[in-house]
Amino acid sequence: FRKQNLSVEELLKDLLKGNKTALGKAITMIESNQIKHQQISQKIIEGALPYTKKSIRIGITGVPGVGKSTFIESFGTYLTKMGRKVAVLAVDPSSSLTRGSILGDKTRMEDLVKDKNAFIRPSPSGDSLGGVAKKTRESILLCEAAGFEVILIETVGVGQSETTVHSMTDFFLLLKLAGAGDELQGIKRGIIEMADAIVINKADGDNMKAAQHAKLEFKRALHLYPIKENNWKPKVSLCSALYDIGIAEIWELISEFETQTKENGHFEKKRIEQNKFWLYQTINDHLKSRFYQNKKIKPALEKQLKLIEENKTTAYAAAKYLLELD
Ligand code: GDP
Repeated sequence: FRKQNLSVEELLKDLLKGNKTALGKAITMIESNQIKHQQISQKIIEGALPYTKKSIRIGITGVPGVGKSTFIESFGTYLTKMGRKVAVLAVDPSSSLTRGSILGDKTRMEDLVKDKNAFIRPSPSGDSLGGVAKKTRESILLCEAAGFEVILIETVGVGQSETTVHSMTDFFLLLKLAGAGDELQGIKRGIIEMADAIVINKADGDNMKAAQHAKLEFKRALHLYPIKENNWKPKVSLCSALYDIGIAEIWELISEFETQTKENGHFEKKRIEQNKFWLYQTINDHLKSRFYQNKKIKPALEKQLKLIEENKTTAYAAAKYLLELD
């Protein structure tokens, strides 16, 4: 970083001008686990925060193979053609193992990768979803400061990652396939509840009939859920990401959502709720890492673990003792 002769101030200046190289470097700082990089990234974030512009943050989830990458390519290109600046980030629950598997292979985003109005960043690696989430969340802010107006956050429909992405986005889009049962698609009930739109992809060719049938089924199923606090009724839509069909309609319904929830105050309310959640999250992370990094704790913890093995103490007594050491 130093060697490249770029000060934090210069980097920030370039970033605020919308320079993608600067944005990429700043995110690299955020993703680094080195203490000195963390100090730099703290400065970058503080410098960027006052300049974060209005954006819409859209979460996109669905099982592998449903067409997320293809959809993002099609949807993202549609938006950049309208003159919007689009950033694509990812939260990948398996990134600790595969070092960022989603978006790692960008071959399905050929056009978007080359698009000057698009910025694509693969998932950061990390040893916990919480750590990855923090990095992604800070990256969102930097993208916004760099003038990106639509932020797409992709995640694979497994584990806890949808809940994490839901907690950092304004709109949550669930991609599905027609014809496959819910179990087959690995979709849990809770995810349907989080969705602001269910989009049935691959509604083309021989799939068309099944897709239309699935649309009706989902519409019927959504009726069974209670009305959301923000009064938004989740929509069901068909699309073919591969053939760019139904893409404009999806943007239309997201815009409708934005207008409606901004009018009734829920857009802002949700962001405030999310900020409160992240405040707690940050405090919890901080307390936890301070505790475990405390030099007194490590040997004492080992000793208590040993005592537990020997049945000489209880979990509760050991925890109480260790917490008081901190
Ligand atoms: P991801 O794993 O969810 O990111 O899915 P991909 O975008 O990699 O797509 C998986 C496969 O489905 C690829 O072979 C795509 O070409 C194909 N695919 C994606 N969208 C569509 C679509 O709308 N129609 C059809 N027929 N195939 C599609």
